[in-house]
Amino acid sequence: MNRVEIMGVPIDAVDMPKAVDQAVAFFQQENLQVIYTPNTEIVMAAQQDPILLDAIKAANLVIPDGIGLIYASKILNKGLKERVTGVDLMGEVLSYCNQHGKSIYILGGKPGIAEVACKNIQIKFPEICISGFNDGYFQENETAAVIEKINQSNVDILFVGLGAPKQEKWIFQYRDKLKAKIAMGVGGGVDIWAG
Ligand code: UDP
Repeated sequence: MNRVEIMGVPIDAVDMPKAVDQAVAFFQQENLQVIYTPNTEIVMAAQQDPILLDAIKAANLVIPDGIGLIYASKILNKGLKERVTGVDLMGEVLSYCNQHGKSIYILGGKPGIAEVACKNIQIKFPEICISGFNDGYFQENETAAVIEKINQSNVDILFVGLGAPKQEKWIFQYRDKLKAKIAMGVGGGVDIWAG
């Protein structure tokens, strides 16, 4: 995989099939693998935010979810070819989970939204196992309980929709505590699945 830097932020030069292949390979790994989907705003935010930059640097797959990144890459001759959106990748990964009996957990969105998203996902992908869901407005002192719930659920892929850059930092901070194959930041993806 070809990893380039746009303004010091690593981004993987993948198209959708490559991004899906990579995500699929992550299900075979022992340790938690992290997927982020930064857009131009996040790359700009990372200029002023060392923790966000460290988080992105530590991720296993960083897809270019912003046409501005592709334009910047063209000007800087960096080799990003096409935009790959987080929402589209989430859809592809869900389809893979459906075909291979993988389980998902959704963390994020206002109270009630993750549950609706899970119901809609289950309608479209009946073979997916829904391990659980939790809204994204828990207090900091509830974090340990939220992680415990995730870890007890035996989940394969955790979708984290806390908004950017909160979700990137949250995954980065807790990646050693989370028991899953993959944690993926999905921004407003939870709201989109909730309809
Ligand atoms: N969100 C959340 N907890 C928070 C802040 C935001 O769960 O503390 C959710 C919000 O409800 C929405 C998602 O994060 O579902 C994306 O929020 P936003 O549109 O602000 O972020 P972006 O899509 O631009 O990353």
